[in-house]
Amino acid sequence: MENCLFCKIAAGTLPAHKIYEDEHILAFLDLHPIREGHTLVIPKAHHVWFEDLPEPLATRITSCAQKIARAMKTLYQVERVSLFYTGIHVPHAHAHVVPMHHVHDVTSAAYLQEGLDHFATPPQLAPDQMGEIAKSLRTRL
Ligand SMILES: [Zn+2]
Repeated sequence: MENCLFCKIAAGTLPAHKIYEDEHILAFLDLHPIREGHTLVIPKAHHVWFEDLPEPLATRITSCAQKIARAMKTLYQVERVSLFYTGIHVPHAHAHVVPMHHVHDVTSAAYLQEGLDHFATPPQLAPDQMGEIAKSLRTRL
């Protein structure tokens, strides 16, 4: 993809602070880090959505993120590291790997209802509603 920022980084035509690289994937520092060390892991091939990645490629990205997470735990002395795809900003699948210094480093407004010092529990749905939701998803797998 000619105008894709991450394709350019993967091709080496745009610079990045690389953490890991092989034939299929690249890990580099996010330009706008949530925390020091915030890394993005991308496939070198252009795929917009993570759910469209071929399984071996998705596995390779996750394995790379696991290695980075173990390094982050040692380096930053954090208890946990988060891994997530959001599909926001650049339309080229990218996994975020973020060392968690605070429980709300990567969070939802639903968990912030009681402020930064708490981790709110969103309300539960009725059991029959949960059953319907589960069924809807299950039948589409
Ligand atoms: Zn791309």
